[in-house]
Amino acid sequence: MNLPDVRDRARAAFLGAAVGDALGATVEFMTPGEIRAALGVHREITGGGWLRLKPGAVTDDTEMSLCLARAMDAAGGWSTSDAASSLAAWLRAGPVDVGSTCRRGIRRFMLDGTLAGPPSAGDAGNGAAARMVPIALVTLGDGEALRRVALEQARLTHHHPLSDAACLLVGELVQLGCMGLSLRRLRAAADALVAAEPRFRFSPYRGLATGYVVDTLQTALHFFFTTRSFEECLVAVVNQGGDADTTAAIAGAIAGAYHGPEAIPRRWLRRLERGIAEELAGLAERLVALSPLGRGASPRLR
Ligand code: MN
Ligand code: MN
Repeated sequence: MNLPDVRDRARAAFLGAAVGDALGATVEFMTPGEIRAALGVHREITGGGWLRLKPGAVTDDTEMSLCLARAMDAAGGWSTSDAASSLAAWLRAGPVDVGSTCRRGIRRFMLDGTLAGPPSAGDAGNGAAARMVPIALVTLGDGEALRRVALEQARLTHHHPLSDAACLLVGELVQLGCMGLSLRRLRAAADALVAAEPRFRFSPYRGLATGYVVDTLQTALHFFFTTRSFEECLVAVVNQGGDADTTAAIAGAIAGAYHGPEAIPRRWLRRLERGIAEELAGLAERLVALSPLGRGASPRLR
């Protein structure tokens, strides 16, 4: 493993997530049958969808990840209160979309300043797992730091064991991909989650791609492990419909890290809204530089 390669893969994780968000937003909340009837196979970033987006626009998944990344970039590392303030500023500015659990959590912070909500049975949505890329990057090389920071960021809006478990696995897979580890090693990490929490079993695939974090992870994992390229993975994920922008953001983060920057189709990167690709790339590199790995520590995996 060498640091320039880690940096390249970190960029690909962040860009891969944004590309997945922009590609999937067109078909968010559609069924596979509706997508087939309307578009055949959806494989280009064209905007539209229920949010009537411009081609290349990203949604809350990328925007919340950017909030966390910008806050860490400004402060030189993780601060839960900085992250919460950044999300609050984003919510105040009136984002085009925000999930109900995220909105409630950010509003709670704005009202009483608390950095975690109480455990709640309704918090098993995928909103926290969708923000894991910057957390995975800034804690590269330290599995314990990943666990701690992942849960702090998650519980700003979601406090549920299934969300916690999903956040940890997404973070771990992005880190393993960034470090250039084998598909077998990534599969072992996913299988360990399934062993600990059988609800996440993704083989055989049940075909559900909703915003319930179990369905979301099953979709991202099934298509990541059964396809051979970044493009094939993301096209398969978004044509499953459902919470397509979020499932594809998570799959794109993992597949981007694993397959690397050359695997992300140029035509998708060129379509991303102006300035976003450059900002994501710069933030990814600076988060790696802030990480234990970037500061010269030898990696300690969980
Ligand atoms: Mn979204
Ligand atoms: Mn979504």
